[in-house]
Amino acid sequence: MSSLLETDAEVFEIIRREKTRQEYRLELIASENFASAAVMEAQGSILTNKYAEGYPGRRYYGGCANVDVIEELARNRTKELFKVDHANVQPHSGTQANMAVYFSVLAPGATYMGMDLAHGGHLSMGHPKNFSGKIYKVVPYSVRKEDHRIDYDMVRDLAIKHRPGMIIAGASAYPRIIDYSIFASIAQEVDAVLMADIAHIAGLIVAGLHPSPAPCADFITTTTHKTLRGPRGGIVMCKQRWASVLDSCIFPGMQGGPLMHVIAAKAVAMKEASTPEFKDYQKRVVRNAGTLAEELMSHGFRIVSGGTDNHLVLVDLTDKGVNGAQAQEILESAGITVNKNTIPFDPLPPGKASGIRIGTPAITTRNMGTEEMRLIASWISEALANNSNESVIARIGNNVREMCESFPLYLNDRDGA
Ligand SMILES: *Cc1c(COP(=O)(O)O)cnc(C)c1O
Repeated sequence: MSSLLETDAEVFEIIRREKTRQEYRLELIASENFASAAVMEAQGSILTNKYAEGYPGRRYYGGCANVDVIEELARNRTKELFKVDHANVQPHSGTQANMAVYFSVLAPGATYMGMDLAHGGHLSMGHPKNFSGKIYKVVPYSVRKEDHRIDYDMVRDLAIKHRPGMIIAGASAYPRIIDYSIFASIAQEVDAVLMADIAHIAGLIVAGLHPSPAPCADFITTTTHKTLRGPRGGIVMCKQRWASVLDSCIFPGMQGGPLMHVIAAKAVAMKEASTPEFKDYQKRVVRNAGTLAEELMSHGFRIVSGGTDNHLVLVDLTDKGVNGAQAQEILESAGITVNKNTIPFDPLPPGKASGIRIGTPAITTRNMGTEEMRLIASWISEALANNSNESVIARIGNNVREMCESFPLYLNDRDGA
């Protein structure tokens, strides 16, 4: 990055500092990961210079021969990997991928159903300040009080009562397997479109560790930067009958020029995701999350739903004397990055929250395993129990740094940015 250093030392220096943060701190945010050098090279390439409004073979500008091939590659690899009829790789983010489906299916004012935000749903599933809550009427469903699993009876009852145009299966903070076949039968019963939002678990699905919604969902949306470990972006997949509606909703409906450099990086990520190494990685992600959940329980933490089937653990802090926001801050000062998160039936507002969400995709990319999960759980427990003891927090911070040094992220480029 010598050109950047020469042109803008200020930005260079901030990136260098962020690189140090990523290298020496434990990244436990469940929606984050570390993309490969190959993905980042494609994303940082000269493809950023090219305008390519439209789709391969039907562009509005000349000079698109090369980017056409790239977009075709990204689309075809996505279709093969997820076994779907059609893929649109142009959405700039997961929220825009979702927006494209809403625009394809719902007229303004129409009703849809999604997971309650306080029970693990995403902002784009009806938050009052998000387009999804402003333009449409959302009927949220939740998890059961007894076991924190999705209340499928409630989903059916609400669907029959409200007759939504669309039902969304998917979440940002749900640690269990989602049964798409039940959602599909409910959607069929009330004649609703079924959309599966697999943003968090796309990698697990590709690896065959979680059921795929491909056989039964009309639409599937995903981000490419979470367990899938690609560049920051979104993708929509759908059944053939929706393909042309979807494409025109994305362009010209809601986006102009696609980000061809990001689409190239999506193609690279799809290639990586088709390898046996990727499958093995996903297995380790799930195993690590399971170990972390068990270890935290052995330290006396209550875990939402009693464990996990995927890459994340939701920790209930109600009896720990700290709320989620405080826990996030304490752990941050010990070098451990997590996010505060509401737990089902949380008495606290989202800004405070009674829980934290912990994910294993990023630390598993660094090749951390069972022994590291044991240590991390003990450090989390110790830090929260001794949160006003500066020397304990400092010692944990040193332990974190040492562990990170044993699992280097950017081996070949330790001092550049
Ligand atoms: C992360 C996420 C999204 C959106 O991702 P952005 O790229 O941040 O817009 C959508 N749906 C779910 C379930 C998510 O977890």
